[in-house]
Amino acid sequence: MELTQKKHQLVWHDWRSQLQHRITTVEGLREWINVSEDEEEAIKACVGKYRWSITPYYASLMDKNDAKCPIRQQAVPQMQEFASYLGASPDPVGDTYYRKTNRVVHKYPDRVILLVTEACAVYCRHCTRKYHTTDLEGTYFEKSEAASWEEDFNYIASHPEIRDVLLTGGDPLTYGDEKLELIISRLRNIPHVEIIRIGSRYPVLLPQRITTEFCQMLEKYHPIWLNTHFNHPSEITPEAAQACDRLLRHGVVVQNQTVLLKGINDDLETMRSLLTGLLKIRVRPYYLYHCDNVTGVSHFVTSVEKGREIMQGLLGHMTGFAVPQYIITTSLGKIPLWEEQFHQDQDGFWIENYKGETMRVTGLPD
Ligand SMILES: *Cc1c(COP(=O)(O)O)cnc(C)c1O
Ligand code: SF4
Repeated sequence: MELTQKKHQLVWHDWRSQLQHRITTVEGLREWINVSEDEEEAIKACVGKYRWSITPYYASLMDKNDAKCPIRQQAVPQMQEFASYLGASPDPVGDTYYRKTNRVVHKYPDRVILLVTEACAVYCRHCTRKYHTTDLEGTYFEKSEAASWEEDFNYIASHPEIRDVLLTGGDPLTYGDEKLELIISRLRNIPHVEIIRIGSRYPVLLPQRITTEFCQMLEKYHPIWLNTHFNHPSEITPEAAQACDRLLRHGVVVQNQTVLLKGINDDLETMRSLLTGLLKIRVRPYYLYHCDNVTGVSHFVTSVEKGREIMQGLLGHMTGFAVPQYIITTSLGKIPLWEEQFHQDQDGFWIENYKGETMRVTGLPD
């Protein structure tokens, strides 16, 4: 009775209400899906180890009966998170190594990421910063999330080479507009910060968060870019489309970063449908990340061969800007993984097109 009442009180279009009514118990989850034995066991195993929570909106996209549903696999814990895998590490990309202050990670010459929070609307099972967002034992923050921001702003202000600041986390949009505006306006006041980027999965996990008021706030601080994270065509709902449209109408460029996930989107047809679906909502595909071998995430890792095969099926076959860059993130940075189609041998250069046809290219100096 009480649960039904709770569901009743949920105001579907209100993102705060959605957050308040997030699903965090097996009983709550049962209102949406037939929880499998493995899922139930994994939820128990998560106690004291991994966070999990699902917005009612995202739960509404789940298949009730199929535990292999791509939405379910991204949000509902599975026992495989607890298996051990060779070479898995909590931080294979070296965020902690490149951390300069409590929140600033400075890995590339002209841009930094600012880890705003460790909280998210849904704790994606495949999160690359799982140790920070989802793992109860392993937060990233050297100090606390509540610690003063002055050191972080001072770092950016005193490094004139930083022209691009990316707010990430966790999901920055978990904060309210007022707090975000404080952060963004402080960054805007630093003359060498040319662009501000936001990495957020809210358009996918809780699109109701993208309100007109929020977009109007962002608009005051342009140029603002937002990178989101659609992994599957079934995430492209009318609500998600509206959220992206609202951002775009307020001048915020929206791009997408997909993670290549075994059993979720590691087939050509799904990937094509995701990418063409994104173009239809005017979101530009940016990166296709090879899944990092992160502790608790390894079961989603595909072979590089698989990723290349998919890239081969995309490049040349579809609109050029529908095709993301296939990248692996390492402690040395992001490294492109797709196959070269421009080759050199002792006789000079030759090329190969998307159909596998080859041709010598003459007239290029060595
Ligand atoms: C991915 C990333 C960036 C941004 O890289 P782009 O290739 O410019 O999108 C910046 N800093 C860190 C630490 C990153 O992981
Ligand atoms: S929203 Fe992003 S940061 Fe949060 S758990 Fe999902 S992938 Fe990780």
